[in-house]
Amino acid sequence: PWFKAPATQAVFAALNKDGAETRIVGGAVRNGLMGLNVAEVDFASTAEPEQVVKLAEAAGLKAVPTGLEHGTVTVVTDGVGHEVTTLREDVETDGRHATVRFTTDWAADASRRDFTLNALYADADGTVHDPLGGYEDLEAGRIRFIGDPAARIAEDYLRILRFFRFFAIYGKGTIDADGLSACVRLRDGLDGLSAERVWGEMKRLLVAPRAKEVVGLLYDYGLLPQILGSAPRLPQFDRLAEIEAVVGAAPNAALRLAALAVYVEDDLERLTERFRLSNAESAVLEEVVDVLQIEKAPDEATGKHLLYRLGPDSYRRRVLTTWMEEGAAPDDDAWTAAYELPDRWQAPEFPLKGEDVMAMGVPSGPQVGRILRVVERTWIEAGFEGEREVLLKQAEAASKA
Ligand code: ATP
Repeated sequence: PWFKAPATQAVFAALNKDGAETRIVGGAVRNGLMGLNVAEVDFASTAEPEQVVKLAEAAGLKAVPTGLEHGTVTVVTDGVGHEVTTLREDVETDGRHATVRFTTDWAADASRRDFTLNALYADADGTVHDPLGGYEDLEAGRIRFIGDPAARIAEDYLRILRFFRFFAIYGKGTIDADGLSACVRLRDGLDGLSAERVWGEMKRLLVAPRAKEVVGLLYDYGLLPQILGSAPRLPQFDRLAEIEAVVGAAPNAALRLAALAVYVEDDLERLTERFRLSNAESAVLEEVVDVLQIEKAPDEATGKHLLYRLGPDSYRRRVLTTWMEEGAAPDDDAWTAAYELPDRWQAPEFPLKGEDVMAMGVPSGPQVGRILRVVERTWIEAGFEGEREVLLKQAEAASKA
């Protein structure tokens, strides 16, 4: 089970000494209990940061104070970093950052967290501590604010997005009505959040299992324009999600953002800035702008050229974008073939070089490149097939044309 990994147990062994009590907290417990993938294991401890460092080092582990102002020390076991955070309770907040103080009271630490399903703790032997009924909520797919939703949102407006993000991942049935109405009432608070925090939540929400439904909720309740800074394109987003499901494409957050918010070239810069997108994410938006400008699905030959020039990832995203825009069913052979390629597919190298053409008596100069391109076109459109001998003959014919 999730709590038995040797790296995890090594943290427990080091940090449950000298009166300190340490438990796994948050996402690891939540996902572990649901049988989902546990990516990282975070700990909460009654030990203050200096003691965490001391105990870890005494056990021969590396300890790096990565967030001392939050009381966080990263303890490294088997090359894996684990965040260990001292129990805290809120003292005051300004709507963006909470001022906290250390405590040894587990209940106080739990009530500072956002949702009941995030206030789950586990001991070294897997015993779960659930002071707020989070496990029952988790099983029922209920995202429930700890305390009064409006008050908790006013402490940190990011919780609006986290409410929807967790519902998109763990939700069942209908979304919690009290939480929803508080989010809707306080939505203007989203405007003051930093780009990084907003995108950090949005990029996970957009690819979550219930993304389509949750984006629909954000739209229905008027939060989506606030988040995007523009009017959303809901039909495109829905179609993209449906098509991805049909072809079995893994959802891509930037592509889904583009589906929702990219109409024209200007959107590219605006969204990149608004969400501080990475270069890779921004490049995905750019592909979409490109495809939107072409406005129709390329024919089979053009498709092969794109595949050759762009590689399979980018090619597939363009395929999805085209289908999304045209509302076409993904049954076109040439395009569906994109999904039959192995993920690591690489275009073969074109077998002819300039020297081959010059050996035919064509003098060095622009004519050589022209001949090569003619033959390469045919080779690409034939699906990168063609014996060298055959290609040489074609080059010879082209040189005489
Ligand atoms: P995931 O594994 O999906 O990242 P997580 O629960 O670990 O989920 P984090 O954002 O890493 O998500 O947060 C870790 C824990 O810290 C949460 O489980 C929650 O208890 C608490 N937390 C994080 N952000 C907030 C917040 N804005 N307000 C209150 N509690 C929060």
